[in-house]
Amino acid sequence: MDIACGAPVESVEGSAPYWVDSLWVSDDRTVLSCLAAPRVTAVDYATSPDGSVTLVMLRAADPLSFPELGWAGPPVEPEAAGSAYSDSSIAQALSQGEPSPWLEDFDVVVLDPGHGGRDPGAVGPRGTLEKDRTLEIALLARDLLALRMPNVRVVLTRSDDSYVPLAARTRIANREQADLFVSIHCNAAVRREAGGFETFFLSLARTDDARAVSAMENAAAELDDPSDPMAQGDALSFLLADMSQSVFLHQSSALASIVQQNLSREWPDGCDRGVKQAGFYVLRGAFMPSILVETAFISNPREEALLESLDFRFRAARAIVAAIEEFAMGRGSIR
Ligand SMILES: [Zn+2]
Repeated sequence: MDIACGAPVESVEGSAPYWVDSLWVSDDRTVLSCLAAPRVTAVDYATSPDGSVTLVMLRAADPLSFPELGWAGPPVEPEAAGSAYSDSSIAQALSQGEPSPWLEDFDVVVLDPGHGGRDPGAVGPRGTLEKDRTLEIALLARDLLALRMPNVRVVLTRSDDSYVPLAARTRIANREQADLFVSIHCNAAVRREAGGFETFFLSLARTDDARAVSAMENAAAELDDPSDPMAQGDALSFLLADMSQSVFLHQSSALASIVQQNLSREWPDGCDRGVKQAGFYVLRGAFMPSILVETAFISNPREEALLESLDFRFRAARAIVAAIEEFAMGRGSIR
């Protein structure tokens, strides 16, 4: 929709009237205001650097559908139950050093917003919660992926503030026969000045820093309810975990590099901390290339402010999506 300065913007013709009654932008383009229906609980926006595109984000109380636009609402999230682990064909393929049988076509991506529910993740100096920011970046990435790669099905391990055990996250990816698993996080360090972005793939941690990050992200496992079957890793999954990740080592590390390149393009002032290896619980047992992105340091006041801005979250999401696109196109040559 075009936003005229100093004038109300009519609802888009034929679109859902319960969205917004009128949208105003002040003459100096510094103020956006709107009259929104009660179902809209928050409005936020971001403008591209050249000012040509403004993304207006309306948050609704309930999931919306727009039958008049041919959109039936958000995809139904899969039930977090069942497991593809017992599939002996996968086990056999992996034991012979072959990739999972479903990886021929690139058609499913699982995005994993870190933490959620009773696990807030890291908390910024001003109280920003990692779990909120990771969810927002993942939701933006999901929507961008739907635009950029319409033939790819995107599955989220969570789409609201719910708790998902670490072991359940890769289980969802395996069950959905995902071609990629991307876990999205915000970093934290005792040293407030620490900043920048880094991307991990699974292995034994190589440095003390990498070990500290994996210890922090793995701590969520302590919040698991021991009686929850989704929190249990089965014996086969642990046997296969290292095996599967060594099959995907090159692809995971290539994807991690592409994510870093795209993040530095979106955030040239940010510190590129590079690709790292560490023992992340959430990546164990994923039968596909998988990475964990630490988008920015929530413990750094300047970066906490960045994570609070939609513009930065949009850039982070766009970098992740651009990397997935690039990876999908070139993956035949990555071995
Ligand atoms: Zn995290």
